[in-house]
Amino acid sequence: MCVVRVRYAPSPTGTLHIGGARTALFNFLFARHHGGRLILRVEDTDQSRQVPDSEAQMMRGLQSLGIEWDEGPDRGGDFGPYRQSERLARHQELANRLLAEDKAYRCYCTPEELEAERKARQKEGLPPRYSGRCRFLTPDEIRQREGQPYVVRLKVPDTGETVVEDLIRGTVRFDNRVLDDFIIMKRDYTPVYNFAVVADDHDMAMTHVIRGEEHLSNTPKQLLVYQALGFQPPQFAHLPMILAPDRSKLSKRHGATSVEEYRDQGILPEALANYLLLLGWSDPNGREFLTLKEAARLFTLDRVQHTAAIYDQKKLEWM
Ligand code: GLU
Repeated sequence: MCVVRVRYAPSPTGTLHIGGARTALFNFLFARHHGGRLILRVEDTDQSRQVPDSEAQMMRGLQSLGIEWDEGPDRGGDFGPYRQSERLARHQELANRLLAEDKAYRCYCTPEELEAERKARQKEGLPPRYSGRCRFLTPDEIRQREGQPYVVRLKVPDTGETVVEDLIRGTVRFDNRVLDDFIIMKRDYTPVYNFAVVADDHDMAMTHVIRGEEHLSNTPKQLLVYQALGFQPPQFAHLPMILAPDRSKLSKRHGATSVEEYRDQGILPEALANYLLLLGWSDPNGREFLTLKEAARLFTLDRVQHTAAIYDQKKLEWM
């Protein structure tokens, strides 16, 4: 039988906020329910967006909620998180393989050329996608460009569709024509998120990817990367958004804050974990208070709601 393996994969760009904490909690409960394993992976490839101390803060936030991960490299005594930045050699190896197999190509277009192309296409009423012109460079043209900076793009079929079978959302179809030959490696030969995440989820043997709905539009790109690499994709489950009571985007002004700040406001971590649990999931017996142990026993994805969850600061304060 295949053991369930899931991950929580935050980017270290700040503190652990309510959306991230809920994603982590649902992954944790899913793993516990199935006797599986949760890993923590810090997605720190975009150095420019990193906030110092974010990784440590996120780990403290998870621990305070009772969320434990089950494996990871030794980082001074305890399981630490996997760090995406430490896997660069593997990402480069896989990109090289796609280039060698002609499933990806080097694109030498400069930002100015791309902008000019975008404008020209807009004028003609064409969708703002990359034309794919570097895909068709002749060997001579490639030789002329040797030594120039380039990005690596994946060859995306320009017909047909990519279908996501989501465990929560059901079947979601994406027209391949709206997905252009997207970049997988940047000019500095580091991977973009959609490429690194596939390499890591595959190598770490993830069986399920449970994450926020904002990533649903990335999933067809990731499926195309799986296909190109010949890897079996995991099952996907996208959690409903968390919105403010007026259905606008949730922010600090609605009281939503970081896990650490809730504690400073006197909200007990157990109460916060219980509140997060019910932000999109419901107990089959309709209970409003459950320990994590009880929740783990009952947690299945078919009880995750399909519509947005509404954040209510008052309800949290009453818990
Ligand atoms: N690192 C991404 C984020 O923090 C999550 C990636 C994923 O779960 O696939 O939004």
